[in-house]
Amino acid sequence: MTEETQKLEEIIRLVLSEMTIDFPNNKPSCGIYSSMEEAINAAYEAQQKLVTFSMEQRGIFIEAIRNEVRNNVELLSKMAVEETGMGRYEDKIQKNLVVVNKTPGLEDLKSLAFSGDDGLTVVELSPYGVIGAITPTTNPSETIVCNAIGMISAGNSVVFSPHPSSKRTSLKTIELINNAIIKAGGPANVTTSVEKPTIAEAELMMSHKKIRMIVATGGLGVVKAALSTGKKAIGAGAGNPPAVVDETADIEKAAKDIIDGCSFDNNLPCISEKEVIVVDQVTDYLLFSMNKHGAYELSEKEDIQKLMDLVMENGQPKKQFIGKNADYILKQLGIDCDASVRAITMEVEGDHPFVVKELMMPVLPVVRVNDVDEAIDLAVKVEHGFRHTAIMHSKNVDNLTKFAKKIQTTVLVKNGPSYAGIGVKGEGYCTFTIAGPTGEGLTSTKDFARSRRCVLVDGLSIR
Ligand code: NAD
Repeated sequence: MTEETQKLEEIIRLVLSEMTIDFPNNKPSCGIYSSMEEAINAAYEAQQKLVTFSMEQRGIFIEAIRNEVRNNVELLSKMAVEETGMGRYEDKIQKNLVVVNKTPGLEDLKSLAFSGDDGLTVVELSPYGVIGAITPTTNPSETIVCNAIGMISAGNSVVFSPHPSSKRTSLKTIELINNAIIKAGGPANVTTSVEKPTIAEAELMMSHKKIRMIVATGGLGVVKAALSTGKKAIGAGAGNPPAVVDETADIEKAAKDIIDGCSFDNNLPCISEKEVIVVDQVTDYLLFSMNKHGAYELSEKEDIQKLMDLVMENGQPKKQFIGKNADYILKQLGIDCDASVRAITMEVEGDHPFVVKELMMPVLPVVRVNDVDEAIDLAVKVEHGFRHTAIMHSKNVDNLTKFAKKIQTTVLVKNGPSYAGIGVKGEGYCTFTIAGPTGEGLTSTKDFARSRRCVLVDGLSIR
């Protein structure tokens, strides 16, 4: 693709994002409003109605959401790739499906009871009310569906403030969720948003008195903004996940897992392997094995520099290369290769910009170190204290334990691809809101609920 075609693509994308979305139903029932005030008021009213339904009925609404999204997974995945110009259609299908199938619902709300001579006390998880959720462009439908399932299961309604660059996909997702709830007999507007989401609208939403909780999923800026509101907030921020490989690892498997994880949706997930740190003894074998599993290795210093000039500007990744295919990036460098190439690897020093910056593209730097202790120390350094995600390939339990203790990340995947950490071919539930900064970890329904105690004195204890 030439520079002119690239510019044209950007212009088309901009025009599309400015277009009003053609919804089949009237706007209010779809939950999309022209002003944030209207969107919040509608969600407020919807929440008042939602809590009048039984838990069984709430569960039916959640099942309806899962089914509606499941039936539209292809559509949402296609829309996201076309609108944002980022990621891989087939991977977005997997991401959307894991959200639908593995995001916890009402079963996550566990009650607690105390009983004795003085009676019975129960602690139950209740809704906050209206939650304001800010969502990223990298997982647009996935984050909205995941947040909606958890937040509505807890009895809340949600005002979404999606990234402007993924507006169409996000608003379509909200429309599907609302239609599912309405078709299942529930209230309209349990999720709402505005026709033209912007950062200014997000700010308006966060400061509105009817918003009782804020959940921000995105980079450092939005998490800081959410935490500065003085309200209850969950912040799910940026990561820069290192993958450490020691000499005891199954190198062939480690190579495949790392390339699979790093290239999943073209490195857009915040949990994806962003750099590899490997002990000298097995570095050459790892690089060789990565080539066998879909990597294209740049071995000349000048090619690495050319790649850096191509994809970075003023120390930051260039927007037009984020989430792009590896073969596309290589073609811009004048290197012809086929679509089987999933990632671009290169050996660099530990302080290289490719290592320290979160690139979100299938460009995977590999750093050679003397031993596992050096690897762990460097991984801790380049993770920047985000406490987000790290990966280790090792068969030495002491090394795995040492790494886990030192890196302190919310997600630590051992001997597998990073996506196993969010339930894709890994055990455990799914989330697309990983709250490292505020400590909830992999958020689910219980995190979107308030703990309330109800005390009955002198009664109902049957012991
Ligand atoms: P982004 O930070 O540019 O935008 C995220 C959202 O925040 C968007 O809706 C945007 O409009 C809004 N926003 C940005 N700055 C804001 C501000 N000052 N006030 C109010 N709203 C603001 O991020 P992105 O490019 O959409 O997503 C990629 C980033 O998000 C990466 O850094 C990635 O690691 C991170 N991420 C984290 C998680 C997680 O669970 N921890 C999940 C997905 C993405």
